[in-house]
Amino acid sequence: MPKKINRSKLVKKLDTIFSIFIRRKNSVNEISTCFTCGKKDHWKKLQNGHFQSRKHYSTRWDEINCQVQCAGCNVFKYGEQYVFGNKLDRKYGSGTAERLYIKAKKIIKLSNPELKDMILRYENFVKLMD
Ligand SMILES: [Zn+2]
Repeated sequence: MPKKINRSKLVKKLDTIFSIFIRRKNSVNEISTCFTCGKKDHWKKLQNGHFQSRKHYSTRWDEINCQVQCAGCNVFKYGEQYVFGNKLDRKYGSGTAERLYIKAKKIIKLSNPELKDMILRYENFVKLMD
């Protein structure tokens, strides 16, 4: 019998594949750019930064809430949230940051099958990037 996959493992797996998706979809010749400071580096050296914190599940895997960031911005500057919000509004239209702020407050509960579907979806997206 297959080992029972628990929820935290599914969340972790989705985080991993989603992070690769975010970093690779913004790459040109493997080089990606930090959304908040513009630093360029190999996508493997950059991170998936969250405008609204990862603790909010409704925006944790939102493709606008999540942007490529360098460790300097994401870790040492705690995500550069103010700059992040301004740049989101500039790129996606004014009100984007506020919309994400409101969306993050919504409590959602993704089922294990939903998490598995999302894992498959992003695994397929990433495969297409090879
Ligand atoms: Zn940066």
